[in-house]
Amino acid sequence: MLKYEIIPVTPFAQNCTLFWCSDTKQAAVVDPGGDIEKIKAAITKHGLTLEKIFITHAHLDHAGATNALAVLYSVPIEGPHKEDLFWINAIEEQKQMFGEAFNYAEKFTSNRFLQQNDTVKFGNITFEVYFCPGHTPGHIVFFHRESKLAQVGDVLFSGSIGRTDFPRGDHATLIRSIRDNLFNLGDDVRFIPGHGPMSTFGQERRTNPQVSDTAVGVR
Ligand SMILES: [Zn+2]
Ligand SMILES: [Zn+2]
Repeated sequence: MLKYEIIPVTPFAQNCTLFWCSDTKQAAVVDPGGDIEKIKAAITKHGLTLEKIFITHAHLDHAGATNALAVLYSVPIEGPHKEDLFWINAIEEQKQMFGEAFNYAEKFTSNRFLQQNDTVKFGNITFEVYFCPGHTPGHIVFFHRESKLAQVGDVLFSGSIGRTDFPRGDHATLIRSIRDNLFNLGDDVRFIPGHGPMSTFGQERRTNPQVSDTAVGVR
């Protein structure tokens, strides 16, 4: 069975999530943006063995501590999509963009870039991968079908959507990613956004001012 604990990290309170398989106690961390001591403490507290790190997209608030965590636990990094490689390579520019609090951030090497219809595994758990560009060109989303739970990074938030004013961001692409890929997974799917409280795809489809049925002219 899938269990999880959301660990807000970095000055941006980014939702890093520790997921684990209750059968095997094997764990995966999604989006270790920073505050590696907090992540470590949660892994220890639950008595888990970290098996993998998964990355939704390569912005520093989501990926800044990826390399440090991978080295500390000797675990592989899976994600994001290869189109985010330019953000990984632009780590120094990103430090200027995100500010001094991110000076700890390091470049990382993905062991496996991901794309639509891939799956990632840890313990007895399988996440489906959805390619959702728009906020960044290589953004992906992780979905656990059995528990109807997704981690969506900066694609969609409770009541808003990701910024598209960064290099290679695109508003129309982002709306399409949300409507065609995420909303199709079902109204009852709960999601952990990159920042802020959880919501469901149905709630956003009904009420999100930027991407609801009304906002995009669908009845
Ligand atoms: Zn972002
Ligand atoms: Zn973010």
